[in-house]
Amino acid sequence: MKNIVIFGAPGSGKGTQSALLVEKYGFKHISTGDVLRAEIKKGTELGKTAQGFIDNGQLIPDDLMISILAGVYDSLCPCEGVIFDGFPRTVPQAEALKVMLAERGTEVAAMLELDVPDEMLMERLINRGKTSGRADDNEETIRKRLNVYNTQTAPLIAWYEAEGKRNAVKGYGPLEEINAALCQVIDAL
Ligand code: AMP
Repeated sequence: MKNIVIFGAPGSGKGTQSALLVEKYGFKHISTGDVLRAEIKKGTELGKTAQGFIDNGQLIPDDLMISILAGVYDSLCPCEGVIFDGFPRTVPQAEALKVMLAERGTEVAAMLELDVPDEMLMERLINRGKTSGRADDNEETIRKRLNVYNTQTAPLIAWYEAEGKRNAVKGYGPLEEINAALCQVIDAL
């Protein structure tokens, strides 16, 4: 059972690379952004709460996000492995994930970090906004999300480094090259 955290700024390619890894290894994929967008679509209470934060480029409060995660995880596992995409996004979330997995007799096997320069992220997200239909892929909200990433999420790089789990790869260039670099890390686990 391999629990993998795919990590990077908005627009770093986490979703794209997760899909390739799911196809190759048969892992389950937990994208907390997708989970929240599905709740919004269904019009649930959770979706209504989440929408305000998402549209504003802000993070959903940790306690709420953490309480959702265990249920999603347990609905998919036991299994080959899980790719966590977009979670954790804060140090308290990383700590909660560690506890949740320990309670289930497992742990994060690796954090895979996609490194992409800021100006490239902006360009990718603006382009994605033309077709994604995502309300938060507009220039103003993208700036907020990148700022939230830099202040609240980037500290996780040092956190996972201290855990001995961090593996950084170049997140731009040909997709297959990025994918090969990620597979190399996973195959060595
Ligand atoms: P994403 O699809 O991962 O870019 O997430 C879209 C939005 O969903 C984010 O900008 C946040 O508002 C919210 N979100 C997704 N995952 C999390 C998380 N782990 N913690 C807090 N908010 C989240």
